[in-house]
Amino acid sequence: MRILLTNDDGIHATGIAVLARVAERFGEVWVVAPDTERSGVSHAITLFKPLRLKQIQPRWFACDGTPTDCIYLALHQMQIAPDLVLSGVNAGPNLAHDVLYSGTVSGALEGAHWGVPSLAISHCNSKETDIAALEPMLGEILTTLLPTALELGGALNVNLPSVHRAPYAGIAVTSLGRRYYSNEVIERNDPRGQPYYWIGGAKVTMPDLEGSDCNAIRDNLISVTPLGDDLTRHASVSRAAELLAHHGMRPATTASAPDPGA
Ligand code: MN
Repeated sequence: MRILLTNDDGIHATGIAVLARVAERFGEVWVVAPDTERSGVSHAITLFKPLRLKQIQPRWFACDGTPTDCIYLALHQMQIAPDLVLSGVNAGPNLAHDVLYSGTVSGALEGAHWGVPSLAISHCNSKETDIAALEPMLGEILTTLLPTALELGGALNVNLPSVHRAPYAGIAVTSLGRRYYSNEVIERNDPRGQPYYWIGGAKVTMPDLEGSDCNAIRDNLISVTPLGDDLTRHASVSRAAELLAHHGMRPATTASAPDPGA
C-alpha cells in the first residue's frame, strides 16, 4: 500500500514525523507537505504564484504552497497514486466549525475529492512534545482506522483526546458539533505607529450536543467524523425557492434531493 502524507503545520512539525514513522508499518510512505506552517489556510489553492517542490529526503518533498496544493501536485504532477491520504497529526483539535478553517482537514478533503480514501488526524493538545508522546499509541489506533478508511472511502476527520488523558475511553463515530472561539480582536501599534490586529480568540465554548465530535472529546473518546464536501443546506432548498417566487422571481429549477451516497 502507498500512503501519501501531508499536514498544515509544515513538513518539519513533530506531528508529521510521528505519523510517517507509524504509517511506515502499513505501507510505503510519501510526504508532500508545506515548507512552513499553513494552519488556518482552509482549502486554498495557489493560482497566482509558481509552486516549487524541494526534496528533503527520499520520498519527502517540501512545497511552498498550501496542503491542498501539496495533494494536487502529489496526485497530478508527481503521479504518486496513493491508496490512502493521511493529513496530520495536527497540533491542536479540528472540531466542529474548525473543519472549515483547517488546512489539515482540507488536505484530506482534497484527497477524497480525487477519489482517494483520506484521514485527517488531529491531537487535542498543541504541544509538540505531547504529540511525540502519542507515537506508541498511534500504531494501534491506525490499525483500526486505516482499514476502515480504505473500505469506507471519502474523508474521515479524526480527533484524538490529549495524550495526557490516555488510556482513552474508546472510539465514537460523530457528527460535527458547535464550537465558538471568543471573538476578541487585539489592536496594537507597529513600530511606525500604525495599528495592526490579531484575530482568533483563544477561549472556546462548546455546547453539549449529543453525538457530536466535541462531546466525544469531552468524554475522552477518539472522535471519527465522516466528512462530505456538499455544503448545500438541503433543508433550505424549497423555502429558498418559495421566497424567490414570493419576491418576484420564480426559479427555473429547484435543486434535487442530495445523493444519499454522497
Ligand atoms: Mn495546524
